Amino acid sequence: MAGRDRLRLVTRAVRRRCPRCGTRGVWLSFTRMRPACPTCGLQLDRGESDYFYGAYMLNFVAAELLAIGAFVIALVVTWPSPPWTALTYGTVAIAVIAPIVLYPTTKALWLALDLMFRPAES
Ligand SMILES: [Zn+2]
Repeated sequence: MAGRDRLRLVTRAVRRRCPRCGTRGVWLSFTRMRPACPTCGLQLDRGESDYFYGAYMLNFVAAELLAIGAFVIALVVTWPSPPWTALTYGTVAIAVIAPIVLYPTTKALWLALDLMFRPAES
């Protein structure tokens, strides 16, 4: 798969579209995907009941990296007298909220990453 094709899969996923064909409407709600893409028919769970466990891992890693990154940036910006209490509460808030906000994106990204390594046959 060419680099441009990989980039296309990722950008479609980030925009909450079907990674394979780019159509909208693969999401029933903020957190629920359709079983299959209404346009290209791609099975969004790839036919595996535990398919999205990897998406949960990706979601956790992305959310925690975001929280740690925000903490480090705030620490560097406010150094030498960082507001420790605000940094603590802010980091905890990001660590709690980010997995919820990033959930659909990381779920679609997981599908895009999987399509890079295991392209759909039909
Ligand atoms: Zn599709």
